[in-house]
Amino acid sequence: MTLKKNDDIRLEITTLTNQGSGLGRYNEEVVFVDSAVPGDVLEAHIIKVSKNYAIGKINKIIKPSKDRIVSDCDVSTRCGGCAYRYMSYEAELSEKKKYVGDVLQRIGGVDTKPEEILHIENQNGYRNKALIPVGLDEKGNVVTGFYSRKTHRIIDCDDCRLQMEEFSPIIRAVKRYILENPVTIYDEKTHKGLIRHIYLRRGRNTGEIMVCLVVNGDNIPRKQTLIDILTETDSNIKSIVLNVNREKTNVVLGDRTITLWGSDTIKDILCGLRFRISPLSFYQVNPEGTELLYKRAKDYAELKDGEVLLDMYCGAGTIGLSMADKAKEIVGVEIIPEAIENAKENAELNGIKNARFICDDASGAAKTLLSEGIKPDVVVLDPPRKGCSRDVIDAVAKMNPKRIVYVSCDAASLARDCAIFREAGYEAEKVTAVDMFPRTVHVESVIKLIRNTQ
Ligand code: SAH
Repeated sequence: MTLKKNDDIRLEITTLTNQGSGLGRYNEEVVFVDSAVPGDVLEAHIIKVSKNYAIGKINKIIKPSKDRIVSDCDVSTRCGGCAYRYMSYEAELSEKKKYVGDVLQRIGGVDTKPEEILHIENQNGYRNKALIPVGLDEKGNVVTGFYSRKTHRIIDCDDCRLQMEEFSPIIRAVKRYILENPVTIYDEKTHKGLIRHIYLRRGRNTGEIMVCLVVNGDNIPRKQTLIDILTETDSNIKSIVLNVNREKTNVVLGDRTITLWGSDTIKDILCGLRFRISPLSFYQVNPEGTELLYKRAKDYAELKDGEVLLDMYCGAGTIGLSMADKAKEIVGVEIIPEAIENAKENAELNGIKNARFICDDASGAAKTLLSEGIKPDVVVLDPPRKGCSRDVIDAVAKMNPKRIVYVSCDAASLARDCAIFREAGYEAEKVTAVDMFPRTVHVESVIKLIRNTQ
């Protein structure tokens, strides 16, 4: 590298990385710049130089990209959550579609081109879930917000543009409870203090809200005061719970919850079905986007009467149940007990009789189902970011389904798994990117794999 720290250079941004940074080349040397847009010509100030690349920050925009827009968020440069806050939404959609197609091709050898990217109308206020760290700043003031990019320093912000607007007054109400009562704040360094996170969820189509405080303990002082403050703030709050997390960990939620007031769950309506959700159950964060995703997954599943569907990584049962009207039987598999309880209740709540759910690790359950001789016609896979393990893929392929619908929030692990499925006789037929997380770097994909041998 010839570049040095504190150099000021003229740089044209040519691409965006999968982390959402702008990338440009200065005499063939790679420079990453946050909040930059492909097409920008910048004066960049070099703040770090490593062996293979440098990191710059924008000093001045010499010529803005045609896709550049003015950020409508005060904290977007410090936060880093919204990598696309500086780019028009059309440009974001086309970047995301291109990214999914490129990654599938490069890592997975998938030549199928993505269909038109699916997206919702409103790119703000879509998140039905917020996980907000609580801490103290240098002066000892209580701060709630989000971690500054790549650090654990909390930036005080009550009204993230992505979250549903109902959350801001609730966050401020919890802050009031903390300030006016003898409540301590958790300190990561000393592992002392009580309140760690505020965790909120809202059913978009019912309005029901859950407020959860994640605590390093199993009780809170002046419980009734908290309940009074919250229920006065928003009459749609239906559930107030504590989540116990006494571990020295970056994992936000512990595995025990205690209901302080109201219901243990909140309800929502998705794809015309009613769902009950516990604090520990996974539930998609963008409900309008989820309906687009599930509908596309249902199209790809192409279920016909008499067919059996296996819904792996089923969470609270949402994908499988949304397809139950087209199947003879659905079997859901999920590792979190509370989610399986929700899934069973959700089947009942919607009068769905042809569904059963198994609480087990995907790989164990796949092997059990295989040994029981279960022959699903269609398998839906919706694993966490890291994708499926080899033995899940092997067991699923041995069940010999006609079609596999793979839903993924990480195109790279999806691509890797598609390559393994190809060796096992499954080819990609169709793929769609779904913009479930507008303004952030994340993008969802759904792919249809079909068996190419009979
Ligand atoms: N299909 C659901 C959930 C998808 S998220 C929906 O659309 O809402 C992925 C789910 O996989 C989570 O519920 C998570 O608890 C579950 N999970 C993670 N690891 C697992 C494993 N090894 N075996 C089974 N389920 C797992």
